[in-house]
Order: sequence, then C-alpha cells, then structure tokens
Amino acid sequence: MTDQIQVAEEHLLHTYNRYQVVFDHGDGLYLYDTEGKKYLDFFAGIAVHALGHHYKDYDDTIKQQVDKLLHTSNYFYNQPAIDAAKKLTEASGMDRVFFTNSGAEAIEGALKAARKYAYLRDGHTDHEIIAMEHSFHGRTFGALSVTGNPHYREAFEPMIGHIQFAKMNDLSSVEALVNEKTCAILLETVQGEGGIYPADPDFLKGIRKICDEKDILLILDEIQCGMGRCGSLFTWQQYGVKPDIMTTAKALGCGVPVGAFLLQGKAAEHSLVAGDHGSTYGGNPLACAAVSKVLDLYAENNIIEHVTKIAPVLEKALDSLVEKYDFCLERRGLGLMQGLVCAGPVAPVIQKCLDNGLVLINAGSDILRFVPPLIIEESHIREMMGILEDAIRSL
Ligand SMILES: *Cc1c(COP(=O)(O)O)cnc(C)c1O
Repeated sequence: MTDQIQVAEEHLLHTYNRYQVVFDHGDGLYLYDTEGKKYLDFFAGIAVHALGHHYKDYDDTIKQQVDKLLHTSNYFYNQPAIDAAKKLTEASGMDRVFFTNSGAEAIEGALKAARKYAYLRDGHTDHEIIAMEHSFHGRTFGALSVTGNPHYREAFEPMIGHIQFAKMNDLSSVEALVNEKTCAILLETVQGEGGIYPADPDFLKGIRKICDEKDILLILDEIQCGMGRCGSLFTWQQYGVKPDIMTTAKALGCGVPVGAFLLQGKAAEHSLVAGDHGSTYGGNPLACAAVSKVLDLYAENNIIEHVTKIAPVLEKALDSLVEKYDFCLERRGLGLMQGLVCAGPVAPVIQKCLDNGLVLINAGSDILRFVPPLIIEESHIREMMGILEDAIRSL
C-alpha cells in the first residue's frame, strides 16, 4: 500500500493524519485492504455504516437507482425524495424535512430556520443561539461557529456572531445565558466527538421547558447519535422530549452522502419559505433512494430492537475492562455509542488494534469510541474484545 499512500500524500490536501491503510472493499462487519488483510470494523466510517458493508438489498436499490435517474434538481419532484420524506417524517414524528448532502449542511439549515423563525416573531436581526461546550456540529462556518471547541475555530475567526456556549448537563449555565434575543438552544442529544456525553434527562427536559416558556426553538443534533444507534430511531424519542428542529446525517444514508434537517409545529410553519434556502444536489434521487431503503431495512430487520438487545453485551464487555485494567477508567454512552475513558492517550491502542485487524477510533485524545454497525452480534464483540485486550495488555 506504500506506493498508493505516497501518491495520495503528493496530491491530497493534508487535512487529515490518516492511518496507513488503503481499504479496498467491505463485507458485513469486515473491511479488506488492498493487500487482502481483513479488519473487524467497530468504527463504521464514523457511525455511518449502520447496516454494515455491502448489504445486498441496499446495494441493489442503489444500483437500480443509478440505472434509472441520478439527478434532476429541486425545480422538480422525484419519487425517491417523496418516499424518503414521507417515511422520515412519519418515523420521527416531525412535520417537514429538507434534505442536504452532509451533516454540517443540515446544521446550517437548522440555524437559518431558527433565525428566520425569530425574525418573523419580532423583526429583529440580532438573535442569539446557545450551544454547548465540547459540542461538535461540523466544519462549515455556521456549524463551526456553534462547535464548542475553540481549537477548531481559532484560526478561522471571526465566526458567525451571537453564539453563546453553556455547559452540557448544567441547566443553570443555560439559564444564565437565556435572554430576549435567544432564538435557539442547540445540542447533541449524545455528544460524540466531544467525548461521548449523553444528555441527562432532567437537563433536556429543563431546556425544553425554557424553550416553551420563552418561545425559543430547541434544535437537537442527532447526526451521530440518531438513526437507531442509541436504541431508538432518534435518541430524543427515549427522553420524552421533542425538538422543534432536528438534524440527521451519517447513518441516514448508510454510505451515500446525505443529511437532513426536520422541523415540527411552529418551526415548520413559520420559518423557511420559497427562496430562503436551497441546494443543487440536496434531495437527489440517488441519496433519497438510499434513505428510503435504509428506513425500510431498519423496520424489516428490527434494527432498533436488535440494538437494545446487543448494546448491554457491549456495555458489559467494556465494563469488564474498567474492572480489570488501571488504564481503563470509565465507560459511558448510550446503546451502540460507547466511550471508554482511559488514563492516557489512546492513539497507541488504536494503532495496535489496527495492526491486529480491528478498526477503532478515539473521541478526544484519551477516549476510545465504539460506534460499530448496528448489526453486530455477540461473536463480533468477543472478537473485538480479544484484539483490544491484547493491545491494552501489550502497552
Ligand atoms: C459528524 C457530525 C456532524 C457533521 O457532519 P458532516 O457530515 O461531517 O458534515 C455534525 N454533528 C455531529 C454530532 C456529528 O457527529
């Protein structure tokens, strides 16, 4: 693979420190590099491949759509987008959806919808948005502006203005920032990149209450934690707290680039209208055929039920590492979105695992992140544990 990597390093912009692997193909829970080495995939392309790699029924749908129609633009309707919109709004209980090409774009649309709602409410143009420290919402300017990690933002200042950061799971820190200019409160239901922090139920309920009282919109970012990963199609569905706006992406297309933001109630009725927002590719037939098929396959294969059954097995396995090794301090997470907090940098552990045929990733320098395909079985967890324990022991 050395030659391929050398060509890559000559021509690609150096925005990633990549692992020295060129993947060639995938099958279920496994990836194969161009030299034929097999890897167990507990990373799923950053929580994307919920159904694993090369899922035949899904692949066939994509192929059929390629042969039929790829793109027409949003000047017209297309059947896959109609199907995907109906299924996604019905499954989420949200009223309306706008399809994007990525998670960051879904965040951009959500922020615009929130500002437009507040603008229609009071005619002002100086509204504030409250986001959380340690949050991650994407790399475009709007999404970066609400990302609570100064390191990602610094070189690119100024960000879009009027953003405040509160502390996740600290309601008083949110209350302290709320004022008559606040138009939205934005958070990940489970923080991903920031270190796998699920929202406390009382915190989320408290925010919903503030939003209801002050006519502020609640935006939940479900881009990583949604699509069944945490044991319900969208994680807020198990909290009994419904957002006004929700973003989704990553596993929404299970490999085809697609995202969406969804709105309900007053946010759907009084925000973006014709001319306010758009996308050339957003909602194209290929991406929407994928979304539509993914939702069908979730239902047909009881994916959510499977997650609720298998997640405790993963939790128990990771808990056993905390008991056994001083290096492993704490496990936290929800469903198949788990973090193992370690006593030092996890990069050497990840490299060792990769050498031994296991793909894992970090969330912050000291946390191992487990976001496997949702179709994992106990045998995969056992296999993962074997390689991971060897790596921890050898280091
Ligand atoms: C990945 C991610 C994003 C950004 O999605 P992209 O598709 O990379 O633009 C936004 N929010 C969360 C919570 C994410 O995990």
